[in-house]
Amino acid sequence: MFFPPIEELATTDIVSVREQLPLSMALQQMSQGRVRTIVVENEAGGYGLLTASDLVRLRLEQPDLDIPIRDAGYHALPCVTKGNNILDALDALETPHGYAAVVDEAGGLCGIVSNTDILGSLDPNLMLQRQCLRDLLRRHVIKKAPHDTPLGEVLIHLVEPDDAVIVAEGDKGVGIVTTYDAIRLLHDRAALGDPVSRHMSTPLHTVTFDLTVSEAVATLREKHFKRLVVEDPANGDIVGIITQKDLIGVAYSRWVDLIRHHALELHEIIRVLESKTAQLEQAAATDPLTGAANRARFEELLHTEMRRHDRVPDLPFSVLLFDIDSFKRVNDTWGHNQGDAVLKGVVQHVRGQLRSIDTLARWGGEEFAVLLPQTGAAEARVVAEKIRRTIEAVEFAQVGRMSASFGVAMYQTGETGPALLGRADDALYRAKRNGRNRVEQA
Ligand code: GH3
Ligand code: MG
Ligand code: MG
Repeated sequence: MFFPPIEELATTDIVSVREQLPLSMALQQMSQGRVRTIVVENEAGGYGLLTASDLVRLRLEQPDLDIPIRDAGYHALPCVTKGNNILDALDALETPHGYAAVVDEAGGLCGIVSNTDILGSLDPNLMLQRQCLRDLLRRHVIKKAPHDTPLGEVLIHLVEPDDAVIVAEGDKGVGIVTTYDAIRLLHDRAALGDPVSRHMSTPLHTVTFDLTVSEAVATLREKHFKRLVVEDPANGDIVGIITQKDLIGVAYSRWVDLIRHHALELHEIIRVLESKTAQLEQAAATDPLTGAANRARFEELLHTEMRRHDRVPDLPFSVLLFDIDSFKRVNDTWGHNQGDAVLKGVVQHVRGQLRSIDTLARWGGEEFAVLLPQTGAAEARVVAEKIRRTIEAVEFAQVGRMSASFGVAMYQTGETGPALLGRADDALYRAKRNGRNRVEQA
């Protein structure tokens, strides 16, 4: 399968907390586990999610972190059953927080999966190696705060899980405050009135915008960052922040491209194989010298006709066998090539006398068979006579006039294929014995 099963991508070392417990417990667990999100187990057996930015919001709205998580409110977490693949989970991940719970058949929690996990599962080689961060820096408002801004005012801007505020001294970025820092600060009960510079994370790690998408993914993985602060290498100005979400957007579009590309490839392979199969089937059923059907194909069609007759006995059908007269003389006098030319010419001329439902086959050597569906004995004899006269009338190059002898047999209900052909063959030999260039009926 092109996409791995969801449980292979899920983060399984998760921190969870029951909804009856106080918010401060969630904060403590997140701080100890060094995680930005915590799974809340509700009393009904379902799951929810509490993020770092939720805790910031709750702390700012009301200072009491001792209320139960249930009363504070948290996000419902959609469930994806393990065994499904990423494509099945994409709908579930359409939530604002971008997380889903991975559960077993019994509803037990196996892990959580996020857009981040999907990003992590991608082979960077599949991504555009040459697409730079510069191409992704659109419509991004950089949240910047002077270094002396009170911490509380900075934390207000951490609304989304990916949010971060760059702390600036003049034009220079000197530090950053992320949702992860917010958890740490809230847990440490940092004074919200302190200047942000006292609590920010330093140094500010930046990348230049000529980094490729795959290098950016590698950096995020290596440093465990949720975002990259991007600067213009020419002047060191901070020009944007690229989040994991932005990179996921690129990854998704790459997937779409890949699938589309593979679909075209598959269509092409199917088309080629179908035409090859048709060619091989045609070749397997055709006599290479004359282009007439071969004996195997004739026998197959004969059986089809016999089965049809079993179902509708009123519908007669007949076979002709004919053998070119004194053919050895052609080979002996003008050579094998002229003999071949006569065989091809006979097929060409006989075909012109047949309906599209009739089958002309080379039975072997200079002997041919014709299957005539919906044809009774008298009509079959007429067809044989027509063919006989046609062959007789042809002026073959160098060789001149030729003739053929015919045996005609109408199928008798219940007889076998070999019995039918045997009767036609007997009639053919009678035609030979009776002077050649004539038609005999079984
Ligand atoms: P008859 O009137 O009794 O049928 O005499 P005939 O000479 O046609 O009969 P016979 O069966 O003895 O000879 C058939 C010849 O057809 C013998 C063989 O060399 C020749 N032959 C068979 N297959 C081919 C072929 O593919 N090409 C050529 N040029 N000759 C072939
Ligand atoms: Mg012959
Ligand atoms: Mg012969």
